[in-house]
Amino acid sequence: MTKEISTRLLIIGSGPAGYTAAVYASRAMLNPILIQGFQPGGQLTITTEVENWPGEKEIQGPDLMTNMEEHAKAVGTEIIFDHIESIDLSKRPFKAVGQSGDIYIAESVVLATGAQAKWLGLKSEEKFKGFGVSACATCDGFFYKEQEIVVIGGGNTAVEEALFLTKFASKVTLIHRRDHLRSEKILQDRLFKNNKIKTLWFHEVEEILGDENPLGVTGIKVKHTKTNKISHIDCKGVFVAIGHAPENALVKDQLETHMGGYVITKPNSTSTSIPGIFVAGDLTDYIYRQAVTSAGMGCMAALEAEKFLAEEE
Ligand code: FAD
Ligand code: NAP
Repeated sequence: MTKEISTRLLIIGSGPAGYTAAVYASRAMLNPILIQGFQPGGQLTITTEVENWPGEKEIQGPDLMTNMEEHAKAVGTEIIFDHIESIDLSKRPFKAVGQSGDIYIAESVVLATGAQAKWLGLKSEEKFKGFGVSACATCDGFFYKEQEIVVIGGGNTAVEEALFLTKFASKVTLIHRRDHLRSEKILQDRLFKNNKIKTLWFHEVEEILGDENPLGVTGIKVKHTKTNKISHIDCKGVFVAIGHAPENALVKDQLETHMGGYVITKPNSTSTSIPGIFVAGDLTDYIYRQAVTSAGMGCMAALEAEKFLAEEE
């Protein structure tokens, strides 16, 4: 039987932004409900070491997120495993419908749905997804023991994935469309020192090549971005790490977005054009996109929601 659940504050998303909002809102006695979504714990659950969360020299991403969940629970947040399918922001109280069929009625909402990996958009990429093409080294790296792998991209994710994959692969080729990496210098240093990793500059993937029966990747066709010269690289695995796009499906037609879909907030605030709707983390942050900045915005969103509700009452 589906239920109707009312709350003063509904938090949608269980990454660093959502859980931090939950901790602050619970301590402000707002009795928030947090909906975890399809990826409880968010993006950090698909990585290994996190080395820039203050107070932890090194912590596994999934452990950090379990700690945050436990913290939110301990201060009284009601955490629900559901995925919001739609939300109506046209009138208060706001109404969200979960995949479970349950309806959430909320006086205010913190949207913290984060971001998801981008894909190259090739037909062959779609065909081999799950059969040699992946966007998650920690999920799929294990399948490539002693195999040759390529990683596409030049940001932190690509470099971390390349380094992680050397645990399994015989060789990792990092393919980037420029000759400068975007990633942090400390990661670049580790990359260049790792003799299992080769870099291929100024190249883009044209096509992913593979066998039909059984379905599986055998290589890729790449193009030099300056000379247009085509070449082939043999590999069994292709890890796409070309960035992340904000997960804005719920609200992109109801809230203003910019910079490729990031929800716009008022300056120095997490509030939006709709009173009572707050946005935190990678859904709005097109600049920093870090766990700690997401958590910071989650804190801001909860404090702003508390002030908004107090003024209303
Ligand atoms: P996310 O972590 O993206 O979480 C979004 C949440 O929203 C998820 O729980 C999801 O289930 C939920 N959700 C989405 N849609 C719905 C819906 N419709 N209904 C309900 N729930 C929904 N940052 C660092 O600072 N240090 C690192 O070492 C680091 N390593 C990284 C490694 C990798 C591989 C990746 C991909 C990112 C890494 N980052 C790192 C970036 C960091 O993970 C993000 O900046 C951060 O997780 C963003 O937090 P968030 O709370 O905004 O959203
Ligand atoms: P990112 O920083 O946006 O980098 C994306 C990379 O992919 C860029 O190098 C970009 O090239 C390349 N790229 C984009 N589209 C492409 C395409 N169509 N074809 C080929 N290459 C393409 O994304 P990210 O690495 O996923 O990181 C996302 C956020 O999470 C960042 O803020 C990052 O700092 C954070 N993060 C942090 C850590 C950490 O702190 N250790 C780890 C992972 C992620 P150009 O450089 O030419 O634009």
